[in-house]
Amino acid sequence: MKVPAVSPERIPLKDGRGRVLAQDIACLVEVPRFDNSAMDGYAVRSQDLKGASPEAPVILSNCGVVPAGASGDLCVEEGQCVRIFTGSVLPGGADGVIMQENVKVEGDRVFCLDEVKPFENVRLRGEDLRKGDLLLRSGTELSSGGMSLLASQGVCDLLVSRKPVIGILATGSELVEPGTRDLEMGEIFESNRILIRNLILDAGGEAKKFPIVPDDSDATRRALEVAFDECDAVITSGGASVGELDYVKDAFEAMGGELGFWKVSMKPGKPFIFGRHQQGLLFGLPGNPLSAMVTFLVLVRPALRKWLGVEAMELPSIQGRLGAGLSNKGNRRHFMRVCFSKEGKVVLAGMQASHGMSSMGGADGLVDIPPGASLQAGDEVRVYLIR
Ligand code: AMP
Ligand code: MG
Repeated sequence: MKVPAVSPERIPLKDGRGRVLAQDIACLVEVPRFDNSAMDGYAVRSQDLKGASPEAPVILSNCGVVPAGASGDLCVEEGQCVRIFTGSVLPGGADGVIMQENVKVEGDRVFCLDEVKPFENVRLRGEDLRKGDLLLRSGTELSSGGMSLLASQGVCDLLVSRKPVIGILATGSELVEPGTRDLEMGEIFESNRILIRNLILDAGGEAKKFPIVPDDSDATRRALEVAFDECDAVITSGGASVGELDYVKDAFEAMGGELGFWKVSMKPGKPFIFGRHQQGLLFGLPGNPLSAMVTFLVLVRPALRKWLGVEAMELPSIQGRLGAGLSNKGNRRHFMRVCFSKEGKVVLAGMQASHGMSSMGGADGLVDIPPGASLQAGDEVRVYLIR
């Protein structure tokens, strides 16, 4: 499925956590920016300390001090040293630093108890990063470390992908907003919008929640119109199947939406709808919370990531070993919810039927089991991590 591009926006660095860079960022400030000391100690000429040892110390005369932050425009001549600290500019003439643990000081006289190799305890200008080196690639999600790296370069604002605003509609006349009243017979608490909202936020999008929509053709159409008016994409839950009270597909087409595809050969989640309305996209998820979660992760999340320009579209995954055999007797790919046992084995997380809720809370990942597959304990599986 093709997704429209979202325009970038400029934001302050402090708001950048988790945002997706819309530009390559190159090194502006060399790291280190100047030759400096890696230790608290004394800047020396390494050749002066040849043969120095506790038994035969070399005595140097201390001719000054370079605190961190000072410009360090001192010069170390033969037989001299300069007091220096971690991060201080290495003064001219010096080519090494002797740790303060390896000297004894008496007034201006510094007894050096060890040799120093050329450039020992010195961090050389540009040895880590040089001007023009690529620091962060467009499409990178900013981590805490990445933000610190940019701050260290003096960056204070940056270009990121605008977050697409995704509207969330839950359809179903049986649904009751939690916290509003007790349930009557036949009713259940609505739990998909909070699920989808968090999945959207985790994927890097912006979520907008709309009121519950009863199973009614006009109400569904009106709700879709409002949501498409205000959002870049709309995710519905429920009403996507073949029952005569499933209105999402028909209501979407009635408002001028163009159906891309309906139904996917996967379990859970067969009745999935994808469509376009002008610039907007419709993702119609099945109502069962498990099916909604799995179809979001497998079908919607990659589209959202692509939209954001993120390089890593797929869920992160690792190889694991099954703790017990499992099989898929059906003819659709089965995305089973799994967790890791204390021994690090991959085991099923709760009931796998699509109406089950027990695997919602504890699952660590999904495994994609092909139709007809029968796997044994100890077999390797790829686990797509979902938290
Ligand atoms: P549907 O896809 O509308 O046929 O719904 C399938 C099942 O999911 C039914 O048992 C619904 O009651 C349930 N369901 C639908 N939407 C939600 C929701 N938002 N929260 C919790 N359960 C739901
Ligand atoms: Mg329904």
